[in-house]
Amino acid sequence: MNKAAAKLLVLDIDNTIFDWVSYYVHCMDALFNDLSSKTGISRAVLESQAKEVFTRQTSIEYPFLIQELPSVQKFYEYDANRILEEGVESSRQAFNNEARKHFLPYDGVERTLVEIKNKSDIQIVALTDAPCYVAMWKLKKMGLLDLFEAIYGLSDPVIPVYSGQPMVAQDILIKHLSRKQFDFAGAVRVLPEEYEKPGTRGLRTILMDFGVDPSEVHWIGDNLRKDVLLGKLLGVSTGWAEYGATVDPEIKDRLLAFSPDINVHKNIAMAPADEATPKPDYTLQSFPDLLKHI
Ligand SMILES: [Mg+2]
Repeated sequence: MNKAAAKLLVLDIDNTIFDWVSYYVHCMDALFNDLSSKTGISRAVLESQAKEVFTRQTSIEYPFLIQELPSVQKFYEYDANRILEEGVESSRQAFNNEARKHFLPYDGVERTLVEIKNKSDIQIVALTDAPCYVAMWKLKKMGLLDLFEAIYGLSDPVIPVYSGQPMVAQDILIKHLSRKQFDFAGAVRVLPEEYEKPGTRGLRTILMDFGVDPSEVHWIGDNLRKDVLLGKLLGVSTGWAEYGATVDPEIKDRLLAFSPDINVHKNIAMAPADEATPKPDYTLQSFPDLLKHI
């Protein structure tokens, strides 16, 4: 039986479209360095408290980390204005300045996606375990957002509240609450936490929304035990982004210093592949390899 023509390309984002681990480790380094140098609080304390906040918020990319750190709250004597103006602002900028240097897709991502869209009527969708807002922010910064028809991700971060007041600078609060964020013309669908990969319900929802059969879908991700497993369970053509699965051991150690193990599993494959590891239908050594399969 011939395979049906592909109608939908579903992409993981982190470590599939860009090097998330390097990006995040460097940005958090900049944030912790700034925070530590202006408060004198050690990096070890900041990192261990960050682990707790990320665990509680169920996301290693929780954007309101600084104002939630107990040592920072204490240093600024629990004064909400000082925490935001002196504690958060420059460290947030340090993160963003570093992010600008790292928001680069892997080689050939944009041209490959444009070529795929041009040669057929394939639609491109993102499926991520990152919060939708964070995923869209990253794609927008990389200039890729408008290539997507839809973004499927987890729920947006909770705004911290302190004595009944939102603990976020007003301009950031407005940005987060605005539904018109990023001028995105496509669809945004927030999936329940329990749809997290390798659960199949996120991808199953996409297939239903787009009215496509598994034989018409290509799904690409870097994590064998999550992305590839779920693709095989659903019977879609499953490509493994092998190039995104290798992490420099030093960078991995730096990531582990501030991230709960459970969150690390969301983003990088921790253990080497063995007999029981799911096998992809095809392996990509680079993103443009996708053109050989679609
Ligand atoms: Mg990934």
